[in-house]
Amino acid sequence: MRYSGFRVIKEALTGHKGWKPAWREPDPQPEYDYVIIGGGGHGLATAYYLAKEFGQKRIAVLEKGWIGGGNVGRNTTIIRSNYLLDGNEPFYEFSLKLWEGLEQDFNFNAMVSQRGIVNLFHTDGQRDAYVRRGNVMLLNGADAEYLSPEQLKSELPFLNFDNARFPIKGGLAQRRGGTVRHDAVAWGYARGADQHGVDIIQNCEVTGIRRQDGRITGVDTSRGFIGAKKIGCAVAGNSGRLMAMVDKRLPIESHVLQAFVSEGLKPVLPNVVTFGAGHFYISQSDKGGLVFGGDIDGYNSYAQRGNLPVVEDVCESGMAIMPMIGRARLLRMWGGVMDMSMDGSPIIDRTDIYGLYFNGGWCYGGFKATPASGWCFAHLLARDEPHATATAYRFDRFRKGLMIDEKGAGAQPNLH
Ligand SMILES: Cc1cc2nc3c(=O)[nH]c(=O)nc-3n(C[C@H](O)[C@H](O)[C@H](O)COP(=O)(O)OP(=O)(O)OC[C@H]3O[C@@H](n4cnc5c(N)ncnc54)[C@H](O)[C@@H]3O)c2cc1C
Repeated sequence: MRYSGFRVIKEALTGHKGWKPAWREPDPQPEYDYVIIGGGGHGLATAYYLAKEFGQKRIAVLEKGWIGGGNVGRNTTIIRSNYLLDGNEPFYEFSLKLWEGLEQDFNFNAMVSQRGIVNLFHTDGQRDAYVRRGNVMLLNGADAEYLSPEQLKSELPFLNFDNARFPIKGGLAQRRGGTVRHDAVAWGYARGADQHGVDIIQNCEVTGIRRQDGRITGVDTSRGFIGAKKIGCAVAGNSGRLMAMVDKRLPIESHVLQAFVSEGLKPVLPNVVTFGAGHFYISQSDKGGLVFGGDIDGYNSYAQRGNLPVVEDVCESGMAIMPMIGRARLLRMWGGVMDMSMDGSPIIDRTDIYGLYFNGGWCYGGFKATPASGWCFAHLLARDEPHATATAYRFDRFRKGLMIDEKGAGAQPNLH
């Protein structure tokens, strides 16, 4: 069933009796050509592009919980491609271009809103770094705009420009950045994949990965054994646990990241704003809530909830640039499990077990990567060679010392 304005009117006039479930609930088949473990944004996008763009068949996505229950439905919804390093910028710009056509492509309203993102800077040195980053973005075909304090004052007059500690000296804007309704992305990809024949199997936890003579043969699950010719792992914060099933230790740690939403307010914030002297990012949802977040909690955990010290830290950062938010009440907060890699950049690569492929290490930036990650992982699975924009996301970069350390923080996951 295609969704359209015409369909909405027709259903409204005929008692809404014609709507069909967005995807089937099939029982698992004994064997598939491709089994994707993890029904988050990346796993579903991979299955969708495998079927749609690479013409592959007999594909299943196995999800231990429900579609949208992981980080894809827990993030602060920001999309952008404002990266500096060669390994990253072309990939994230590819992703942003896919976001721009996504709703038409999978025929689902994901509320892609290119409301723009502004990174504030607070020192002369930081201004130079942001100008350099803006130039790199332009050279890669992305958009970037330098904003003087005067321009910023006319666009975002409520910012605390004269803060004694962190004066706001300008910003780097990417007008094509913005937000997307996160759980709609999971639903849109799930529906699109289902329409291309992908079996989406919820409540199906992978508990083991079977191998024979150096190649995978299938997975043990809470719904029995499922054979597979190729397996793609896309389980984000559970990557370490999954790869431990084949005795692999990853250059990844799992950490908690929290998100916060205030009570609903009238429109006050037209775009996404990030603090340059601390970790804080904020936007306003269409329902009016201020949606914001900051740093990871800083200790290893698989819990999907965080602790109070980070709440204080995040709110302090917010107050430094936007004191008015001190008047708003916090409505709700939650946590997600982040797959923090050693250099803050992801991995999309084969493993040394024939037929086993890995996608992870997204840290807290994987939502914006969802379309490109799915496309590039599907490319790798179908053709056994990396997509041109993802050639740097290899396991062996850690062994070779070829870090993609966007933040320049060193090989320590809790600092990225
Ligand atoms: C609070 C927060 C804010 C964030 N903000 C942003 C942001 O603004 N912008 C941005 O770009 N990124 C952001 N991120 C990061 C982004 O959400 C993640 O990097 C991305 O969603 C991870 O990929 P995913 O969607 O596939 O993960 P998930 O949705 O977590 O998918 C993984 C799935 O694997 C399943 N799974 C795990 N183990 C198994 C198993 N054994 N068998 C079967 N299934 C299994 C899980 O149940 C889960 O559904 C944020 C994350 C959080 C938590």
